[in-house]
Amino acid sequence: MYGATAEAEPGTKPAQQQQTGKGGFHGRPSLLGLLPPFVQEPVDRQPFWRNAVAQDPSAPSPIPVGLKGLCPRCGKGHLFKGYLKVRPKCDVCGLDLAFADTGDGPAFFVMSIVGIVVVALALWAEFAYEPPIWVHLVMWSALSVILSLVLVRPLKGVLVALQYHHKAEEGRFEK
Ligand SMILES: [Zn+2]
Repeated sequence: MYGATAEAEPGTKPAQQQQTGKGGFHGRPSLLGLLPPFVQEPVDRQPFWRNAVAQDPSAPSPIPVGLKGLCPRCGKGHLFKGYLKVRPKCDVCGLDLAFADTGDGPAFFVMSIVGIVVVALALWAEFAYEPPIWVHLVMWSALSVILSLVLVRPLKGVLVALQYHHKAEEGRFEK
């Protein structure tokens, strides 16, 4: 997306490169020319991680709203219908929730967090108590399932809220 917008205005680029490149001001050699090209770019042409501002500054803070599973725009309506299915629309403010597509995101975070916690606990239990292997099997399988079920909904809520907050969506070329 950003690549497409940068190439859409080919007329402005060569002039800028001449000014900030090897010549510097008044033809003197400048340290600016040694910097990577994106540092030399003017603010509005910088890459997405420098201007990832909220599209809607009046919206509530995405993390608490997402953890509670509420609508990312009004913070009042419910985001989910059932356990993990996102509603088509917020029932309070009418926000169209069709943009919400977190894909594998929640599963990835659940896997990482549960994996670290369960492995750490299992190692600690083994070194501290040396329980028989069946105790390990029962305890850590059960804990993995329970923790995953508890975490996946708030994590999905946070990802949807962040997606709304930063207007993140699938990359596509502008027409
Ligand atoms: Zn809403």
